[in-house]
Amino acid sequence: MIEKVKSMLEESKRVVCIMGPEAMIECGAVDLWAPDNLFRIEKTYGKSPEEMLSAGEITTRKVYFYDFYKKEVIKNLPQPGPAYTAIRNLQDAGKISEVISFNIYGLEYRAGIHNVVELAGSVYVNYCPVCKKLYPVDYLQQSKSVPLCEECKASIRPNIRLHSEKVQNNLYTQASLACRNADMVLVLGMTLSGSKIRYVTGHYEGDRLVVVHKEPHYTDKYADYVIYMPVKDVMSYLAEDY
Ligand SMILES: [Zn+2]
Repeated sequence: MIEKVKSMLEESKRVVCIMGPEAMIECGAVDLWAPDNLFRIEKTYGKSPEEMLSAGEITTRKVYFYDFYKKEVIKNLPQPGPAYTAIRNLQDAGKISEVISFNIYGLEYRAGIHNVVELAGSVYVNYCPVCKKLYPVDYLQQSKSVPLCEECKASIRPNIRLHSEKVQNNLYTQASLACRNADMVLVLGMTLSGSKIRYVTGHYEGDRLVVVHKEPHYTDKYADYVIYMPVKDVMSYLAEDY
């Protein structure tokens, strides 16, 4: 299967990569939804990760939101690993046109990849909702309790999409267009089970929709090719000649 995918990649000129959670977990991001962490989070905070990272929490329980966010989300930031280096090399070689990310750690930009659509936002972009001043992630990491704007004392918020917040339509339009214009789409580190990924890949009209993730899933039937391997192994193999 992987040899077939490699030869298709050689023939393709506009490849789009879509990055899912397994790709960032490979780089050291904590999987808040892993059973051990789910249990620990429920026990420590009395809520699920979804509830802690929700629009309701940041609006009405700021102190709790930032306590969770600083300890669980931005304490240890993952660094781009071999999969991202491989993607950058393939992009530099003119194979990959766009990269769409469902992750929040800006790994693509940090790896030197360009034409990135960050559908879930980035922990590296933080702003004051009042005066729009931008703040780096370490300003939040170092803040005591709720991080406040230096200018107007409003609470700063990370530019990540929280649960129950509206999706930014322009980003989805960009992602959908990238897929429509692609001759090959690689879904890396996620299944096709969510409505958002299905919406984006639904715009792809070709027959080279490849999904790479850990274990068989019933939605694999929607892909043209499925590889059950770590993303870093697959991408390192696909990029070895570039
Ligand atoms: Zn401000």
